[in-house]
Amino acid sequence: MYIDVIGVDGSKQYGCCLCSMLLGESVLLDAGSASMLSGTQQDNVEMVLLTHAHLDHVLELGFMIDATVSRRDEPLRVMGSKACLDVVKKHYMNDLLWPDFSRIKTSRGPALVYEEMQDREWFELPGGIKAWSEPVCHSAGARGFLFRSSTGSILHTGDTGPTETLWKRGAELGDLSMVIAEVSFPDNQTDIAIASNHLTPVLLENELKKLNKPDVPVYTFHLKPWLRHEIERDLARRFRDRVVVLRRGDRLEF
Ligand SMILES: [Zn+2]
Ligand SMILES: [Zn+2]
Repeated sequence: MYIDVIGVDGSKQYGCCLCSMLLGESVLLDAGSASMLSGTQQDNVEMVLLTHAHLDHVLELGFMIDATVSRRDEPLRVMGSKACLDVVKKHYMNDLLWPDFSRIKTSRGPALVYEEMQDREWFELPGGIKAWSEPVCHSAGARGFLFRSSTGSILHTGDTGPTETLWKRGAELGDLSMVIAEVSFPDNQTDIAIASNHLTPVLLENELKKLNKPDVPVYTFHLKPWLRHEIERDLARRFRDRVVVLRRGDRLEF
C-alpha cells in the first residue's frame, strides 16, 4: 500500500498546497488540495476521509464533488467524526456557502453521502486499508488515525497538540512502519502552538517519547509556510535524519 502526498502545507499562500493525501487510489485523506488531483484521480476517489473540519482540510471538497458529480457511478462517501461532519453540513455545504450535494440526486442516487465513523475500532476503507480513529487534542471534531495494510501500519496525527491515547494505541502496534505527524510552528513559538493545539519540534520530541519506538521513521507535514525554514532548522537540530519534512509529490509505502 502507498500514500501519495498531494498537499502538506499548514496554510495557504503563493505556491502552497493544503493538506491532502491519497491512500491508494480510492481514499483521499483530507480535501485541502483535492483540485491538485487529475480528473481521473478524482473520479477514482470513492471516499474522502476527514481528519477534522478546519478549512485547510475541507476547502476543496466542494470543488471536487462539483467537478465529478456528473461522472460518478456511486455517491462520494465523506467520512469523519460526527462533530466534523456537523460542521461541514452546517457551515459549508449548506445551500448557502456551497450547494448541499447530499440533497442533489443523480440517476444513481445522491451525489454525496456522509458517514460518521466510530472511534476506537478498526473499520475497512475502500481499497482494503483498515483504519482506526482516535480523538486528539484539537478542535472541529479532530481525529488522528492508525492505518493498517497487509504489510504494516501508520500512525497519522492529523492536526493535534500534545495528546495521549493516539500515541498509546500506536505504541501497542507491533508492525508500525512510520509516523506522519503535524508540526506547525518552530520551537520559539511553542506557546502559540499550545494555545492553538498544534505541535513544534520540541513538543513532537515529547510526543515521540510516548510512542517509545526510536527506530520508526517520522514524516512531518502542516508547517506554516512562512515559518518553514525555522521549523526545518529546529527539526534538524533535534532529530538529525530521523524526521523528514514531506513534500508534495512524495510517495510513502507501507
Ligand atoms: Zn486544524
Ligand atoms: Zn490544519
